[in-house]
Amino acid sequence: MNIEQIFKNNEKWIAEKLKCDEAYFKNLSTGQNPEILYIGCSDSRVTAEELMGVKPGEVFVHRNIANMVSNNDLSAMSVVNYAVSHLKVKHIIVCGHYYCTGIKAAMQSKDLGILNPWLRSIRDVYRLHKDELNSIDIEDERYKRLVELNVQEQCVNVIKTADVQKAYFERELTVHGWVFDVHTGKLIDLKIDFDDILKHIMEIYRII
Ligand SMILES: [Zn+2]
Repeated sequence: MNIEQIFKNNEKWIAEKLKCDEAYFKNLSTGQNPEILYIGCSDSRVTAEELMGVKPGEVFVHRNIANMVSNNDLSAMSVVNYAVSHLKVKHIIVCGHYYCTGIKAAMQSKDLGILNPWLRSIRDVYRLHKDELNSIDIEDERYKRLVELNVQEQCVNVIKTADVQKAYFERELTVHGWVFDVHTGKLIDLKIDFDDILKHIMEIYRII
């Protein structure tokens, strides 16, 4: 990749946008009103806006290794706070992806230095679902299932935040768990039944 090419691409992109709408950037600069918060993986193959076919201004985005939502991660917590309590998004999407190298790394017993504490949170997901995962004989299928279960647990982590708990009382807000299949390009809705998952733990996490 030639870095200079990026600036040429940018000029071309500006010209294309202005050709369709002379006021495009003027309008974009007036502010944002996205209805969706997307939390996804930093993986270069999983481009949030492109795979969803959305335009600038439509989705508030947070990406990190393996789409984690940890309550001691100031960056993720700030994003959730701003999106839910200030931008008042209507949907929160946690989107994992098959062939996630972060998930793969967490499945291996390897010392990866600074990545160890980050991967430990994924290993916690494995521990929570150990019986189901260990019952899957085919390694590739176990890997895929951990991707899905990690999405489910990160959705639960989103729901446990004070911002989402408060918003649930005040307005419509829906959390979605999705997986992007890099092999086919398909976006899959895991259709997670949060009411069922959360009914036993809500009394612990509810704040109002
Ligand atoms: Zn990934």
